[in-house]
Amino acid sequence: MDLSLILGALLGAGAIGFLLFIRVKDIPKPAPESPFKHLEERKAAIYENLRDLQFEYRLDKLSDADYQATKLELQKDLAQVMAETDRIKAGQPPVPVPVPKKKNECPSCGATFDKPLKFCGECGKPMGGPA
Ligand SMILES: [Zn+2]
Repeated sequence: MDLSLILGALLGAGAIGFLLFIRVKDIPKPAPESPFKHLEERKAAIYENLRDLQFEYRLDKLSDADYQATKLELQKDLAQVMAETDRIKAGQPPVPVPVPKKKNECPSCGATFDKPLKFCGECGKPMGGPA
């Protein structure tokens, strides 16, 4: 057998092995993550919702009652996130922040309602709520 062939094969295998090695090394490890990260994300999302809410309210898209109710709910969420952040800072074990209940969202137009509806109040299409 030709020595250069063997050498070539070895080099080729080495190159592939090297590439595979790099690939595996490049895959980001899932941990460790900051214990505050998910809370920071939640906080940012709540602030964004509050901004959106105020924006819609200024455009007269919301009634006073709707605005106040939603704002109160968001502020409650925010207080929960803050409390959880304090718990972690105090070295206490984290308590999972409850995920807010998913709103009754119309699969057709995306409108959301406080109650599950059989038909969407916006577009009138079936929403799969109680009969
Ligand atoms: Zn709809």
